[in-house]
Amino acid sequence: MFEALGQRFTSIFSGLRGKVSQARLDQFSEEIKTALIESDVALEVANRFSAQLAEKFNQNSDEINISINPAQKIYELVNSQLVQTLGGATRRLKYAKNPPTVILLTGLQGAGKTSLAGKLAYYLKSQGNTPLLVASDLQRPNAVTQLQVVGDSIKVPVFAPEPGNGVGDPINVAKAGVKFAKDKLHNFVIVDTAGRTGVDQVLMQQVIDIRDSIKPDETFFVVDAMIGQDAVRTAKAFLDGVGLDAVILTKLDGDARGGAALSIVELTGKPIIFAATGEKVTDFDLFYPDRMSSRILG
Ligand code: GDP
Repeated sequence: MFEALGQRFTSIFSGLRGKVSQARLDQFSEEIKTALIESDVALEVANRFSAQLAEKFNQNSDEINISINPAQKIYELVNSQLVQTLGGATRRLKYAKNPPTVILLTGLQGAGKTSLAGKLAYYLKSQGNTPLLVASDLQRPNAVTQLQVVGDSIKVPVFAPEPGNGVGDPINVAKAGVKFAKDKLHNFVIVDTAGRTGVDQVLMQQVIDIRDSIKPDETFFVVDAMIGQDAVRTAKAFLDGVGLDAVILTKLDGDARGGAALSIVELTGKPIIFAATGEKVTDFDLFYPDRMSSRILG
């Protein structure tokens, strides 16, 4: 996803040779800002990035001046600014004091939510947990069957008392699913909910009702990184309407320019916890800001 930005950064860095004057550093910060904007990073995030970078250059000007390899020092400062913009430390899952830990997945239709539920279940199971998937997306055609198929393939049970396709009450299913998990001693419950093609009040209200009835330990907003700045806009709408604890980015394997990943943390104030990078259940991991930054910088 960050290929174009990575190439731009490489070419900007290759222009840094020998001693680097203050004027050259200022120009460098401007070049970085332009590269970010061209990668679909929100204007205010790109502006803040370059201002904070310039500040870092100022604070470290002595070190940059005396260094035999100023480009290396500058690289370290850009890296640390990128890591900060991507959220700093890796956000890890919070476990409930009394199991099960209840995870509510929200997001727009097509974001990759149902596939993500499977990926997250597989990830948790491979760490020795006993997750239960709950099929509360009773809207999208075949969402229940899709969850059952993915559950079967990873040997994770799926609580799906309703057929979906418009039939059944998602709030009752979510509540009964959490109770079932408690009774059967599952230590995680992942509740898949319905999305809409766009943010709307009915969707928000349904998620609010589910949230209020199951009191999740974690509410995650799943969003397709390919939709760029719309990802940030919908995340903000969900944050304001429903509240969320962290964001999960999907389709990071796509060829979008990466603006969503680089803007969403600053503009929502919420961390990215997981990232999906493909259609397979294994194409999924915690989101590591430092690794992502290294990937961008090459
Ligand atoms: P939902 O409507 O949010 O439940 O979306 P789905 O889980 O059905 O996913 C929509 C489409 O995106 C499916 O074709 C998935 O295979 C695909 N998909 C989901 N996550 C990823 C990803 O990380 N990378 C790619 N390339 N495709 C994905």
